[in-house]
Amino acid sequence: MKYIDYYEVLKVPKTATEKEIKQAYRKLAREHHPDLHQGSAKAAAEEKFKLINEAYEVLSDAGKRAKYDRLGANWKAGDEFGAGPADAGGRTYAYYGPGEFDAGGFGFSDFFASIFGEDFARSRQNGRGRPAAYKGEDIDAEIGLAVDELIHGTEKELRLSVPSPCAACGGQRFSQGGICRACAGTGVTEDTKTVKVKIPARLYPGASLRLKGLGGKGYGNGPDGDLYLRIRVAAGGGWQVNGSDLEAELTVYPDQAVLGDKLQVPTPHGSVQLKLQPGMHAGQRLRIREKGLPKENGFGDLYFRLRIDIPPDRTEAEKGLYEKLRELRHNNGK
Ligand SMILES: [Zn+2]
Repeated sequence: MKYIDYYEVLKVPKTATEKEIKQAYRKLAREHHPDLHQGSAKAAAEEKFKLINEAYEVLSDAGKRAKYDRLGANWKAGDEFGAGPADAGGRTYAYYGPGEFDAGGFGFSDFFASIFGEDFARSRQNGRGRPAAYKGEDIDAEIGLAVDELIHGTEKELRLSVPSPCAACGGQRFSQGGICRACAGTGVTEDTKTVKVKIPARLYPGASLRLKGLGGKGYGNGPDGDLYLRIRVAAGGGWQVNGSDLEAELTVYPDQAVLGDKLQVPTPHGSVQLKLQPGMHAGQRLRIREKGLPKENGFGDLYFRLRIDIPPDRTEAEKGLYEKLRELRHNNGK
């Protein structure tokens, strides 16, 4: 009997988290579902499908995974494991059919059966594998919010793919005959639903908002799971975003640049008064503290980059004054 590398089967590293294992498994289980394949490909898919399920049965269960990892540490490539016929092809794919294996024909390899077979059979008999109720799955989603929405809060409609416990197997992944066909052994079926969520004010990019009960459906009397909404900032609104700071261009006229001025300027927090010092240059940046995006403590800053332009309609009187300015400049040798 040959050692089976369950991590390799699921294409995950040995350090993979529970969540990464689940995601990898669901993706593979759907790809290799035997009902999606025909002819000789069907038999190959069936074998692969069983192996994927077996790997998940071990790696998704903390107790089984620890036992398997301990075994792996002592394993040397090419070693025989336990008693039993060695197969010439290297890894064993000799699966037990219904009735042949104590665990009830769930389609496991002899490698699995020799390590976990008894545990698995016992858990089925005790009914431990089929709780009457459990909490629905937590799900992750991401939402892009405009600058104004981050600061003031908003209400959003989200379309979510929500896992529900598979009705055919009660979310247990196995039914009488073996791996549940209805859910490809994943234990869940995905439904799409639209939910309205209230986004509170002052959320910062990178924050995660927990919305209770908006995750996967609970089983039995179990509560529904939660939705974890990761917040990011969406482009637009005329603001350039640098971390929690915002920047925009501010156009002023030559007289304001030369003499200074007091201006009302718009910010996403409402308009504020900005004092221009005399002698401003184009491209200069003016900072308004704490009028940027929310951050963990308080707010970032807002910057205005100065652009100096001429007024749109110049009157004859204004032109006259500019001519005077030119004269003065020439007389001063500039
Ligand atoms: Zn099912």
